[in-house]
Amino acid sequence: MLSKRIQTLSSSLTIAITTLAQELKAEGKDILSFSAGEPDFDTPDAIKNAAKDALDSGKTKYTAVPGVPELLQAVANKLKRDNNLEYAPNMIQTNNGAKHSLFNLLQALIDEGDEVIIPAPYWVTYPEQVKYSGGIPVIIETDDSNEFKITPEQLESAITPKTKVLMINTPSNPTGAIYSRAELEALAEVLKGTDIVVISDEMYEKLVYGGAEFTATASISEDMFQRTVTVNGLSKAAAMTGWRFGYLATPNTELIAVLNKLQSQSTSNINTLAQAAAIPGLDGTIDTVVEEMRVAFEARKNEAVELFNNIDGLSVVNPDGAFYLFVNIKEVSNDSMQFSKDLLSEQGVAVVPGVGFGSEGYFRFSFATDIETIREGIKRIATFVEGQK
Ligand code: PMP
Ligand code: GLU
Repeated sequence: MLSKRIQTLSSSLTIAITTLAQELKAEGKDILSFSAGEPDFDTPDAIKNAAKDALDSGKTKYTAVPGVPELLQAVANKLKRDNNLEYAPNMIQTNNGAKHSLFNLLQALIDEGDEVIIPAPYWVTYPEQVKYSGGIPVIIETDDSNEFKITPEQLESAITPKTKVLMINTPSNPTGAIYSRAELEALAEVLKGTDIVVISDEMYEKLVYGGAEFTATASISEDMFQRTVTVNGLSKAAAMTGWRFGYLATPNTELIAVLNKLQSQSTSNINTLAQAAAIPGLDGTIDTVVEEMRVAFEARKNEAVELFNNIDGLSVVNPDGAFYLFVNIKEVSNDSMQFSKDLLSEQGVAVVPGVGFGSEGYFRFSFATDIETIREGIKRIATFVEGQK
């Protein structure tokens, strides 16, 4: 009965583990969860108030498929203000989360057998969405010795006549790695003269630490601007995961036209109230609140990195961005799935095994939770690791 395509699709491991942890908690078990890629902060008031105003003023109808004009303008202004990128409103589509932006894009760009280059560790969703679109994920491996970033040489040797797309995620989920301007320039050099499209997922743009600087991939050069589709959203920076708001931008208005056709036949416009709510998330209104959250994340990160690096057998690279630590467990285990399962059953601590991100020998630990829970969680992980020896 089921299509071959749907039968090869795996569930999102991050969501599966987060759900399992919630179920165990609901059964009364003592569970500490570090699996969710979700801020523990509440959505800022300005955003909630914009949604309430929209509701009260009857903004409850269908809108244009890519979003209302004020919203598209707000996205364009944000990309200009933060990233110095000039997109007109007709170069933008808003989506039900950035996950949906990526899904639409892959459906519109990929033919059966096209290759999509994905650096590992990658966000769990990338290869699954690529396969579902008929494409073939081509994985480039990285590890902590090169700060989890691909080199121009690696990119060059992954490119074949079938390469259609390169996916970049900066700052990265799960490693927090950020590509510097120079590193992006070097990758851009390799792409010159090809017709490879870059999908740049910049979801964690605002969560950057220790003086590291975020560079938008499309801002590298005119060549990169033309070939890059910028994907971003408000789930992480504005603590809006449940609202479902993301967007994509490309100077290729033909691509936007087909994406609008696809969205018109699938989900139509995104939730009208979420559109109104997103505007103060884009126009600078919540900048100070975002900065407060960033500072809190940074303090937790610094403490967590120190605590992990004090555990004999574990090590972690101090991440430049996002809100995850990608902890190296290679001295203790070469089976991150078994390690994570045993950690959950023995110590009640939920983390996501590295294998789900395409990198065995690690687990992902989200520090988007309060510091007491982080301290207690790492203490339990230390006890667990001690028992593994
Ligand atoms: N990209 C990355 C790298 C992510 O971690 C996430 C996590 N949710 C998303 C995109 C999608 O976010 P959303 O669909 O909530 O906008
Ligand atoms: N992106 C988040 C994560 O990596 C949320 C869960 C998901 O959408 O997969 O945990």
